[in-house]
Formats: sequence, C-alpha cells, structure tokens
Amino acid sequence: MQPGMEAVIGLEVHVQLRTRTKLFCACRNAYGAPPNSLTCPVCLGLPGALPVLNTEAVRMALTLGVALDARIQPLSTFYRKQYVYPDLPKGYQITQGPVALVEDGSLEIPGDPAAREGEGPVRARIERAHLEEDAGKSSHEWSDAGSHVDLNRAGVPLLEIVGAPDLRSPQEASDYLKVLHRLVVFLGICDGNLEEGSFRCDANVSVRPRGSDAFGTRVEVKNLNSFRFVKQALAFEIARQSALLDRGGAVVQETRGWDAAAGETRVQRSKEAAMDYRYFPEPDLPSLDVSLAEVEAVRAAQPELPEARIRRFRDDHGLSGEEALTLMQSPAFADYFEALARTCGQGKAAANWMLGEVSRTLKGRGAGIEGLGLAPEALAELIRLVAQGTINLGAARETVFPALLAGEGTAAEIVARKGLAQEADPGAVAAQVAAVLAAHPDVVAQIRGGRANLKGFLVGQILKAGGGRLDPKAVNRVLDEVLAKP
Ligand SMILES: [Zn+2]
Repeated sequence: MQPGMEAVIGLEVHVQLRTRTKLFCACRNAYGAPPNSLTCPVCLGLPGALPVLNTEAVRMALTLGVALDARIQPLSTFYRKQYVYPDLPKGYQITQGPVALVEDGSLEIPGDPAAREGEGPVRARIERAHLEEDAGKSSHEWSDAGSHVDLNRAGVPLLEIVGAPDLRSPQEASDYLKVLHRLVVFLGICDGNLEEGSFRCDANVSVRPRGSDAFGTRVEVKNLNSFRFVKQALAFEIARQSALLDRGGAVVQETRGWDAAAGETRVQRSKEAAMDYRYFPEPDLPSLDVSLAEVEAVRAAQPELPEARIRRFRDDHGLSGEEALTLMQSPAFADYFEALARTCGQGKAAANWMLGEVSRTLKGRGAGIEGLGLAPEALAELIRLVAQGTINLGAARETVFPALLAGEGTAAEIVARKGLAQEADPGAVAAQVAAVLAAHPDVVAQIRGGRANLKGFLVGQILKAGGGRLDPKAVNRVLDEVLAKP
C-alpha cells in the first residue's frame, strides 16, 4: 500500500450456537450424522409446519450481548430472507430484521501500531448480533457426476455478528477474530470448530487516504474459515485495490472468494447481480420479547471473561502473555491448569508442566486435556515433591510422570518404590563428584585452563552416575568448590 493510504476492514462472523436442538424445531443440532437424518417437517419447510423459537439459543445470544457490553433490544422481529437455492428447502431463511436482539457492543483488541497512530488496545465496535437459521449443505462430487444436498444443518442456530469498519490491517482483523473466537468458546455458546464451519467469516475491505472519513468502494470476501486465510485474503485484496487506485483505476463493488491454492481473491458476483431478498416479517413467529429480568439473570450467571482470565494468569503466576494465551487454548485446558496451580500452590511450575510434559504427551496422543487420564491433584503431588527437594526435576519428568500416566500409583509411592528420593547426604554428592572427576582428568584440566563451558558435561555425568537421585544444585555447589581448589 502507498504511504498515506489506509485499509478499512469490517468483519461479519457467523457463529454456530451449540444448542441441543435446532433454532425452530426439535431436531438435534449435531455434526457428522448420516445425511438428512436430522430433519423434520419444520426444517424441511413442509406445508403447514410451524416454527417454535429455541429459548436456549436466545439465552446464548444474550450471553454474548452481555459480554460485548451491548444494548439488548427488548423487542426484535424475525424476517424471511428469500432466495432460491437447493440447500434452502423453504425458499427463505429466517433471520432478524432491522432491529437485532443485540446492538452496539464492542470488543477490545490489541491495536496494530503499524496501521494506526499510537500504541495500545483498540475498541472495535460491533453493530449488531442477530439470530438466524443456517442453510443445508450442498456437495458436488464429480466422480459420479452428482450433486448432493444434506439438510442436517438446515435450521441450525447461528449468531451473525456484524462488526463496524473499525479494523485497519489484516493483523487487526486476525486479532479481532481470535479474541471473538476465544470469547464465544469460553462463554460455552460455540464449539469454535473452524474446520466444521462453526465459526466463519465474511470480510468487507476498502482502501482510502489516511485520515479521511469517507469510505472507498468496498469489496466483500466471502466464507473465510481460518485465521490465516483471513489475513492472506485481506493482504491480497488491500494490495490489489491499492494497485488499482495507483494506476488511476477504480475499485468495483463486488463479492469475491478466496482461492487458497492460487493465493488470490476471485470475483464471485458483481453489484449489478446483487440479490433482492424481498425481506418481510415472518408471519409464523411472534416478536422476540426479552425482559430486563432475563437479561439480569444472564448477567448474574456470566463466567469470568477470557481476556480477564488471561490477565489474571499473567499477573498471579508471573507468566508471559504468550504462556497465558497458550494455557487458554481451550476451557478444559485452562480449568485443568487452574486446578493444578491451586492444588500444588506453584503457579509458575504448574504452567511449566502444562506447557511442557503435559502438552507433549497430549500431542503424542493427538488428544485434548480430557485424554490425559490424570487428575490435577495427582500431578500436583509430583510438583510438590520437586518443590520440596524430595526429587529432582529430571527424575520427575523422565521417570515419575510416565509412571503416573501408566497408573503405577501416586507420585510418592513411585518415588519410594523406584528409590528416586534425592540423596540429602553431602558425603554422597561429594563421592560421586570425586569419582567422575577422577574418570575425566583431561576435562578437569581444560576447565581449569579456562574452558568453563565444559562444566555442564561434568554435571551431566555426575547426575547420571547418581542415578537421578542427586540434587543438581548440590552437585553444582560441590563441583564448584572442588574445581576452585588448585
Ligand atoms: Zn427439524
């Protein structure tokens, strides 16, 4: 982009709500069932079938509204948005009209100092969040020259969250999506699964002279289902529009799609082909009436918000922002960490175990924290044994932790059975140090000759000779004493 220009980005995010049933019928809201097995006359749009609003979906929308510090509209209305497509059996989608259940909220994101004046966090406004039903899914399999329609998704509840054009770079767009994703997952209203389409995004983007209040002609990039694609598609689109304007050309208002393989956006339809959806109020549903008491009940039940939890992890346990974020990879992982830190009383050590041995184990198993098969209390006991100096960290990691996972008893039992308790007797440390030094006179001579970096080798040899039972601190101390003598 030319200096003096800026990008203007607004995101529309579709969040699939994890209700038990669909938005207007009792069909199960589930992914992966056999095609067309989760349908009924209501979501198939058969004549005479009447929709009934799912109150669980309304409560979830209110939960987000409260978290976004938004205005909850006491009265909003459902509308029919009409278009013809094979995966839309009714011929219309039920969505909300000009008044949305949730309006005028905001989300704090880290600002991108490269794209705006000044540093620090930015409040991105959210214009509205409304309830609507999803369409079915079409798949086109060329092998048998057939197209298939699966209507299990038809009628599944979505929250469409419409952000104001407040974002100024692909980085800010990506950060906004990550903060919003974490919010809906930790509020428990969305499973956050990007591959299954539970969280997907359309991006509106234009460029204009920096400082201008007017908007350039905007392009909509549809259906971005990964944080990386959003960043790549926006960077491409900003460069394409800027180059066009530099050449004296004009941006055409249109809808484009992201071709990940080619690394470019492609035209899907122009403004001239824009659809007229002929919206009108849904006659089969009453207006959505929300009382103040309902909103207050949701507010009272609100869990701690994820960004506040990240700050608390950082401040209470002396963690870096990156460490706190990694601990927040899922609600279950964060909960496990908190239980572990509370039980062992060592926040930093608990974080190190979560980000080290525990994460490595889960990665190896391809599992989430639920698949660890070890209660936080059991791991906490091991962390306490290390903190008390009963065993050293190496033995805890290499021997006791795998034995805990294998169900060989409690940490204390394993330590006792394997004879891993550290040798407290200074004489035992001194004897191992003397034996290893005697076996490596050449190394000792080199260290005394100035090659201090060889000391680590000797420490390793001594710890090995001690069978993992020597306290590394004691070994270092004794070794330093011996080496200091001529
Ligand atoms: Zn149904």
